[in-house]
Amino acid sequence: MPIVNRVADLHDEITAWRRDFHAHPELLYDVHRTAAAVAAKLKSFGCDEVVTGIGQTGVVGVIRGRKVGTKVVGLRADMDALPIKEATGLPYQSTVPGRMHACGHDGHTAMLLGAAKYLADTRNFAGTAIVIFQPAEEGGAGARAMVRDGLLDRFGIQEVFGMHNAPGVPIGEFAIRPGPTMASTDTVTINIEGLGSHAAWPHYGVDTVLVGAQIVNQLQSIVARNVDPLQAAVISICVFQAGEAENVIPAHASLRGTVRALSPVVRTLLEKRIREVVAGTARLYGAKAEIIYTPGYPILVNEERQTAFAAAVAGEIAGRDKVHQGPPVMGAEDFAFMLEERPGAFIWVGNGNTANLHNPAYDFNDAAIPVGTSYWVRLAETALAG
Ligand SMILES: [Zn+2]
Ligand SMILES: [Zn+2]
Repeated sequence: MPIVNRVADLHDEITAWRRDFHAHPELLYDVHRTAAAVAAKLKSFGCDEVVTGIGQTGVVGVIRGRKVGTKVVGLRADMDALPIKEATGLPYQSTVPGRMHACGHDGHTAMLLGAAKYLADTRNFAGTAIVIFQPAEEGGAGARAMVRDGLLDRFGIQEVFGMHNAPGVPIGEFAIRPGPTMASTDTVTINIEGLGSHAAWPHYGVDTVLVGAQIVNQLQSIVARNVDPLQAAVISICVFQAGEAENVIPAHASLRGTVRALSPVVRTLLEKRIREVVAGTARLYGAKAEIIYTPGYPILVNEERQTAFAAAVAGEIAGRDKVHQGPPVMGAEDFAFMLEERPGAFIWVGNGNTANLHNPAYDFNDAAIPVGTSYWVRLAETALAG
């Protein structure tokens, strides 16, 4: 496998950074230790500019090539961990109770730092490589915060690329696909108001548990009967709260869930039908329902041209036959916010046979470091070949 030689030499050093991040997980925008370490390293590598505080705690490093060029590409990693109690028992396991790097963002940050070190050392390209370290990928829309803070315009970024590790994909292999790749995630809260009563006299009340149960059922008819069977849609009601006593019909019930799609048409249809079905079902039983519908991460769409380019670069590292085109997934990624603004592509790098993402037994696989880091390095050098 043609791992970049110099990157192979950095393997131990990048691994040490990764394990240090792993031992000190931080949540959402509160990634102060990690961001400070990233900024200090970028400065020590001799980046032309290191800017902190973009999107609250995001960090950006600017690396200009030795050759003249006007092209600017952005390479993006994420820095935040999860509120999960780690169960790996590793020597470098989380030192913070109830928090862990269970999505491998420690590895993403370390690999992009490794690439930054190489690129700042060698500068064998024309134009500018921008390394982007974002906070709050796990539900906080840190990518959107950085975009709103002017990230893309301020540094003149023309294309953006992202990478995530993939448990189940062998070490040394990649997966990428053009078009819609990950789902939009909207959230819905439904507050049902009925009429409380003694459980033995249900006819004096309006039972919000019954109404809630009917709504949960009816919502599934949207996926089964309103969405084209060849299109993807998920409605999962994951919270149902009502009542405190077994002999009291509760006056209020609350449902909460996630709504996902891979096309804007389906996304719009789901919201419209959810509003209609909830209102209609509540009315049928004499209850009232309030709907709070909150748009979340957008659909992640890989641009054709940049996807073909990224796949070719991955093929150089892994071999053509080790770059797979998998199906889209209904998980979400806030890198989608950057892809809404600039063309680019998001790639999966194999994490081998490990526990799955967000599992307490998960650990980023350090064997992926030379692969992912080599990808970043070659991507920048090829995109900025001049
Ligand atoms: Zn995650
Ligand atoms: Zn992640």
